[in-house]
Amino acid sequence: MKFLDSKKPLETCQEQSCDNCNVKEEINCHFNSNQAIKFLLSVVPAMLVGLIGIYLYSPLLIVIWLLICFLYFGFIEIRVMCSHCPHYAETETKTLRCWANYGSPKLWKYRPGPMSITEKIVFILGGLLIAIYPLLLIILSQNYLILIVYLILTGVCFYYMRTYMCNHCINFACPANRVNKKVREKLFKHNPQIKDAWEK
Ligand code: SF4
Ligand code: SF4
Repeated sequence: MKFLDSKKPLETCQEQSCDNCNVKEEINCHFNSNQAIKFLLSVVPAMLVGLIGIYLYSPLLIVIWLLICFLYFGFIEIRVMCSHCPHYAETETKTLRCWANYGSPKLWKYRPGPMSITEKIVFILGGLLIAIYPLLLIILSQNYLILIVYLILTGVCFYYMRTYMCNHCINFACPANRVNKKVREKLFKHNPQIKDAWEK
């Protein structure tokens, strides 16, 4: 996996260097393989158990779930949420090089500033659909062991993201973002274009 040079400021940032930046410990402007692997380790086990649960109900329904995941993480989520992220604005690559959606294509233009209500609804409903689809089929097939494991792994995944990712995430537009106001202001000082977009 290749990531952006962590010493080079993002294109939205007005600084000449990331050395001594007062916000770099609090916000992830750059990403690395360690973060991407931890993210995958938190998500993949829950998805694999979900996949097994769907398979036990009906192998054919796996195709529908995989298609929904592909469309959502590959295109829809990128449009409604990631296209607001400063990382998305990088012109060096045509695909995302971040911890969570590595490799997804950047087909839409960068749109700094907050997400609209419609975008938030699509983002949340899409995520819920992906999590609830296997859950319903596991319940219908009465595989209670799979159900318990799926719920635990989904909970661990959610906890990991909320605790280690959402509070350091550079995309303030995301409804799940947990970066506090003080840290946001610090980032805005380095990125006046983004600040302007938020104040429009
Ligand atoms: S705010 Fe700018 S200078 Fe600071 S870490 Fe991010 S890109 Fe680098
Ligand atoms: S919002 Fe998150 S997943 Fe999307 S581009 Fe930014 S860092 Fe990556």
